[in-house]
Amino acid sequence: MTDNAKRVVVVTGGSRGIGRAIGLRMADADTRIYFNYSATVSTDAEETERLVVAAGGSARAIRIDVSSREDVQALFNQIVEESGRVDVLVNNAGITADGLLVRMKEEDWDRVLDINLKGAFYCMQAAAKTMMRQRSGRIINMASVVGVMGNAGQANYVASKAGLIGLTKTVARELAPRGIAVNAVAPGFIQTSMTAELSEKVKEAMLAQIPLGRMGRPEDVAEVVAFLASEEASYITGQVIHVNGGMYM
Ligand code: NAP
Repeated sequence: MTDNAKRVVVVTGGSRGIGRAIGLRMADADTRIYFNYSATVSTDAEETERLVVAAGGSARAIRIDVSSREDVQALFNQIVEESGRVDVLVNNAGITADGLLVRMKEEDWDRVLDINLKGAFYCMQAAAKTMMRQRSGRIINMASVVGVMGNAGQANYVASKAGLIGLTKTVARELAPRGIAVNAVAPGFIQTSMTAELSEKVKEAMLAQIPLGRMGRPEDVAEVVAFLASEEASYITGQVIHVNGGMYM
């Protein structure tokens, strides 16, 4: 059964961190949020569903690996069958597997590029078909400040995020005639499990580069994503919006 009344938002990697904050920020009675996660068992995903409902929205957690074309196709088939439309896609799922260039294992290069970049390509391709039929839609890709600055020890991750920025600009040009806006958000140093693993020494060095003197919160990023998905942002496309406390200007 389809219910076309609600705005349908898809957030990849929505079970925790920035993705969870996006789901919570966009939760309301007129929005249905689909988010995915990849862990075999995810108490995080259950918790996010509960929190979105508590915030007055509706959420459905679906386990898929964004680096699998079959999984992504099945996800969007299910969404269209159940809800009839896709209004907003947030390509947020991402991982790191850091190491210096000379020591980087090929499998770590491939895994990071497959999830962070190819996964976004699969999701955009699947969502664009529905959005083009609707003649409306918003796509928001989660890049990173390091995708424009570079960062020693993250060749794979930085390549994926720089690639995502180029992909954003190209797809923005291709889909603009169909009324679809495509933008990237580039967070700086945000408090999530991705950054929790860093040593105190690395954290101190990062903080020293941030004029506003603090790490960002997932909510700081979610606010910008919600704006880019809103009616008020309808004239913005092909842009990279930085949320980094001034770390990169
Ligand atoms: P996080 O806390 O580690 O969460 C990552 C999310 O992605 C989880 O929901 C995870 O689900 C999901 N995920 C991982 N691999 C997946 C796969 N193969 N298929 C589907 N989902 C998968 O990360 P975060 O810090 O919130 O980061 C979110 C995004 O922001 C990422 O793209 C990251 O690169 C970007 N970013 C983060 C920072 C930062 O400082 N934190 C800065 C710049 C950019 P499971 O737990 O189930 O695997």
